[in-house]
Amino acid sequence: MSKLVIKNGRVVDPAQNLDRILDIGIEDGIVRELAADLNTTGAKIFDATGLVVAPGFIDMHVHLREPGFEHAETIESGARAAAAGGFTSICCMPNTKPVNDNATVTSYIVDRARRHAIVNVYPIGAITKGSAGEELAAFASMKQAGIVAISDDGKPVMNARVVRRAMEFACALDIPLIEHCEDLHLSAGGDMHEGVESTRLGLRGIPRSSEDVMVARDILLTEVTGVRYHVAHISSHHAVDMVAFAKSRGLRVTSEATPHHFVLADSDMLPYDGNFKMKPPLRERLDVKAVTQGLISGAIDAVATDHAPHAGDEKMQEFERCPFGIIGLETAIGLSLEQLYHPGHVSLLHFVKLFTTNPAGILSLKAGTLQPGAPADITIFSLDRAWTYDVSQSPSKSSNTPFHGRPFKGGPVATVVAGQIVWSL
Ligand SMILES: [Zn+2]
Repeated sequence: MSKLVIKNGRVVDPAQNLDRILDIGIEDGIVRELAADLNTTGAKIFDATGLVVAPGFIDMHVHLREPGFEHAETIESGARAAAAGGFTSICCMPNTKPVNDNATVTSYIVDRARRHAIVNVYPIGAITKGSAGEELAAFASMKQAGIVAISDDGKPVMNARVVRRAMEFACALDIPLIEHCEDLHLSAGGDMHEGVESTRLGLRGIPRSSEDVMVARDILLTEVTGVRYHVAHISSHHAVDMVAFAKSRGLRVTSEATPHHFVLADSDMLPYDGNFKMKPPLRERLDVKAVTQGLISGAIDAVATDHAPHAGDEKMQEFERCPFGIIGLETAIGLSLEQLYHPGHVSLLHFVKLFTTNPAGILSLKAGTLQPGAPADITIFSLDRAWTYDVSQSPSKSSNTPFHGRPFKGGPVATVVAGQIVWSL
């Protein structure tokens, strides 16, 4: 029997509307008790004085690159980066090689994760075979094998008839459909957001409308099909408005935002630096404000990183040739504190909800709370520790980030999965 007591932390659990200094008693991987001054006989002790103790953070959008691109990331290395970022659960997108579009690949990922990952890994299955946008993937058997949602992330489903049918099946199976919203005809050839900055830099633009038209299309189809629909990495102010509108009509529409989309605008880019190239692209200051506002108002439900590792040389090419995406697991808490909590935009309960209760609800995960009986997945973080991000120390196999060298106030301190401290400072 293994016992752990986390002493004296500020326990913040939105599921219980709890924000109080308490001890947490953990036995055999399960939360047993929350109380002041717990008996610690025979237990390992973690002193959390001055720290926030929250349910394990969930990142519902990461790319682990295994199988197929293990030089950039593996399930093992991505899970270690997640733990170092304060995440106890991550959901991996299906754009591996082969694509996770059938139960064999799903089972492979689940099995590799069980053996090599220090955090929980939940696979997301493809919407279409090979994520080619034509034939539907095998949702039912993938669900049995362990997927928690479907998405062709990275490759939007361009054919509305195909996405409508996928929504009908997803609704019948009660799994959410997550869309990477991008009309490829509108975004074709673009490398950054279309606007004054792209003109100034002489780069081809990706218009905001490429995101907006697909969000609009999908919301209309959500009304027809009744599916639980989720917008990945929302970045346009119009899209935020449309999701709020859909929610006001009672549709089961949710959305997530990445820290880079609510911290950086296109005008913050270092010119031609591939570490600022991602999809959707960094947009304008008004979009950054709208995404931040969406996280405050509830139009946006979750913070997700879209952790997208690319090995060293891939990002060292000319901007036009660089692949899209940045890593993000280790900087998510720091950036979110900086933009949401420290300026006083959200309470600590609301902040924690964006990483726990909300993503757990969207994906129907048995996670995201510290109620007695729940798995002891716990994120311990500081609100004021001064630190600087050094990507050369990252457990990730990739280092493509625009945040190397950025100073932070507050960030992850320890990560507990199933009652074991899997990472600490
Ligand atoms: Zn995407």
